Amino acid sequence: MCIFNRGQLEIMIDAFWNLDGVFCPRDGAEIEPHLYPQREGYLLVLACPCCGTKAQVTRYSDPKRFAFRMWTQPERVWLALGHDREKGVQCPVCRARVKRRTIGELIHVFECVRCGNQHAIPTLIHQATSPPPMHKDRTLLAGVAGGHSP
Ligand SMILES: [Zn+2]
Ligand SMILES: [Zn+2]
Repeated sequence: MCIFNRGQLEIMIDAFWNLDGVFCPRDGAEIEPHLYPQREGYLLVLACPCCGTKAQVTRYSDPKRFAFRMWTQPERVWLALGHDREKGVQCPVCRARVKRRTIGELIHVFECVRCGNQHAIPTLIHQATSPPPMHKDRTLLAGVAGGHSP
């Protein structure tokens, strides 16, 4: 069985997580990726329909795993502000699209499946970031940014 080398794999995996199409670097065939959620992370299977070259990747064999780290507080705030309902937002650590889910209408959870970061905020804060009074806004943001309130 043929497998992709590390450089090829890195390009394909980046493309997958950035929601671009995944193409075989050997023959340019389009690959249909299969993502299987696991209890710890995921299993991503890529197989070229043309040449049959295959790859299986998890969070722990990701070519970029050594660069993975926790989101910083400013990044967490930025994610919440920059999130787009349609397109999501790009993870500042691994460049995957970060999804948001809502738990019981009260809490937004931002979760990056690729690098495993997670951040939860009350929906109130997320909505309040649009316009309302400046002072109120800042107080709420200070709460998100790690609790050093004025
Ligand atoms: Zn191929
Ligand atoms: Zn990430």
